[in-house]
Amino acid sequence: MVSKILIANRGEIALRVLRACKELGIPCVVVHSTADADAMHVRLADESVCIGPPPSRDSYLNIHQIVAACEITGADAVHPGYGFLSENAKFADILDAHDITFIGPTADHIRIMGDKITAKTTALELGIPVVPGSDGEVKTEEDAIKTAALIGYPVLIKATAGGGGRGMKVAKSEADLVEAWSTARAEAAAAFGNDAVYMEKYLGKPRHIEIQVFGDGEGNAIHLGERDCSLQRRHQKVWEEANSPALNVEQRMKIGQICAEAMKKLKYRGAGTIEFLYENGEFYFIEMNTRLQVEHPITEAITGIDLVHEQIRVASGRGLSVTQEEVTFEGHAIECRINAEDPRTFVPSPGTITHFHAPGGLGVRIDSGAYQGYKIPPYYDSLIGKLIVHGRTRVECMMRLRRALDEFVVDGIKTTLPLFQDLVSNQDIANGDYDIHWLEHYLANHPA
Ligand code: ADP
Repeated sequence: MVSKILIANRGEIALRVLRACKELGIPCVVVHSTADADAMHVRLADESVCIGPPPSRDSYLNIHQIVAACEITGADAVHPGYGFLSENAKFADILDAHDITFIGPTADHIRIMGDKITAKTTALELGIPVVPGSDGEVKTEEDAIKTAALIGYPVLIKATAGGGGRGMKVAKSEADLVEAWSTARAEAAAAFGNDAVYMEKYLGKPRHIEIQVFGDGEGNAIHLGERDCSLQRRHQKVWEEANSPALNVEQRMKIGQICAEAMKKLKYRGAGTIEFLYENGEFYFIEMNTRLQVEHPITEAITGIDLVHEQIRVASGRGLSVTQEEVTFEGHAIECRINAEDPRTFVPSPGTITHFHAPGGLGVRIDSGAYQGYKIPPYYDSLIGKLIVHGRTRVECMMRLRRALDEFVVDGIKTTLPLFQDLVSNQDIANGDYDIHWLEHYLANHPA
């Protein structure tokens, strides 16, 4: 067992991991920037270390400070949360060199999945269905024209080093192609310092469906079903549900098994998410995230499995607590991401929360570090909490969500709560009838 865990993150996820450590009776240390001295994860921790000034690069991304904090406090393991250093292979290597356990996969697996082309080739080798596309990088104009003709229009040009949906361009026909290809390269160079691009078939109305996997690093792996994260704005997830309204049990078990088998072959360790676009009954791999996801609580709600407990178990070499046969899926869960943003323009709204009242009752979970009097710093992302609701059926879950949203009060700043009140009453959402473009269209047709 690891004996002391340092949590290298902030906000709701730092609190989430802290809760798991406390339940398991494992001592832990939190770190914080000077801007987060009053944050809830710091207030609830037994031990905290200030690791630098507000900018992330000087604090939450500062590897030397974090390793030093481990050494000062005697932490022998690090939980990276999501974002920040969670998918940084160099960080995993450095911890390894200091005999500190990284609660996550091996640095090699982070590297493989961090490069889009290598990730896709690996997925294909592991038997995971992928989007038809180029064989690796598309280096020349001629190459682009030839590949697009083979795949069939429309095509999507994507950055190898991509992230956050940047550096992507659609070409509807050969007339658009050369321009799309060169713009994508220029954007990729500017955003990632790497102009390598590749090509995929562009799917018109897909859903985003992702499979939660877990491996013990020794060749045993399971899947925990899917999450439907199709409701997105600018490629940022807004509302997630498990199970997906689009899949039946056979489809779920089939794609889940493919992913679990792939993770066995890879000897994957820890939590991972295999993301797919789903259209006309087919799954197309887009990427794998080698960490815990923001939306993991909906999987916890329907399986009853604490994913952070599981991550700590696996990192301690104790294997998975359940077999695939023991995993059951009960009811339906929805997560709403509460951001400190204007609910229509999405302009960030940092400031002081003057009044805070979170909903409660059966099937309602709030993961948030927010409290009355808390001042949201302007330096980090605007997620201030997550509302997760569970019901025996999707209908019960939606009714409970509407009730929970009515109870939720956050004053002093703007939040995305009003958006969720609109969505929970929308007929398409009630029918589960939406794809990855639905929310953008809805927002365009329902301006502020
Ligand atoms: P990033 O790492 O930049 O987020 P992804 O490959 O995960 O890139 O894609 C981000 C989003 O772009 C997807 O969630 C989807 O909305 C859209 N997308 C990606 N690939 C395709 C495709 N082949 N066809 C249509 N949309 C796509």
